[in-house]
Amino acid sequence: MIKDAVNAVIKAILSDKDYLSQLDAKIGDGDHGLNMARGANAAEEAIEELDDSANVKEILQAVGEAVLMNVGGTAGPLYGAGILEAAKVVDENSTLDAATLEKVFGAMVTAIQRRGHAEKGDKTMLDVLIPIHETFKAENTSDKTFEQILTDARDAARDGVEFTKTIPARRGRASYFGEKSIGFEDPGAMSSLIMFRTLCGYWKDNFK
Ligand code: ADP
Ligand code: MG
Repeated sequence: MIKDAVNAVIKAILSDKDYLSQLDAKIGDGDHGLNMARGANAAEEAIEELDDSANVKEILQAVGEAVLMNVGGTAGPLYGAGILEAAKVVDENSTLDAATLEKVFGAMVTAIQRRGHAEKGDKTMLDVLIPIHETFKAENTSDKTFEQILTDARDAARDGVEFTKTIPARRGRASYFGEKSIGFEDPGAMSSLIMFRTLCGYWKDNFK
């Protein structure tokens, strides 16, 4: 089940590879799709080696290591570190609910910030990942069904990408474009949205 969710994400990244590189070509060096596809292929190989009973911790660990070791550029190692940190906060008893996702996204954001020192508003993947994390916090989930929470999180992710269009980049390669980066979505924010949107779709279809 968890393996299937990860495979759905891998497929989504591979099919949007060119789109992600096109976004990066506008405010970077045009390789984000290629980097993400390299990560997706490495992740696919890594989880193929695990048996079907592998738990969420083992899967996140294998994917995180594969991404960290195989993907160059800025985003790959940040995603890899984030996934490895997320692996630390889950175990074989973890259930798929808002409290678990709050811990998982909190761990990812912490690891990405520790390495990359970016804040919300710098026009990076964090403009999507931080709002996703917020929606899973207890104060934002009371009286909501899990499905509603996922819808809120997906909307927050989409709004995060829209937000990146309105601001200049302050981290990574896009920061060299300064004010000229306004008007374009951040490619890393878009890859985070694509991956999260895919997970939400998978969860909604499979956990009713
Ligand atoms: P590179 O910039 O080395 O070519 P990619 O194109 O694969 O690497 O990734 C670019 C993405 O990395 C950006 O769109 C942005 O979302 C993300 N990024 C860059 N710097 C940071 C940072 N310091 N913290 C978080 N994300 C970052
Ligand atoms: Mg790039």
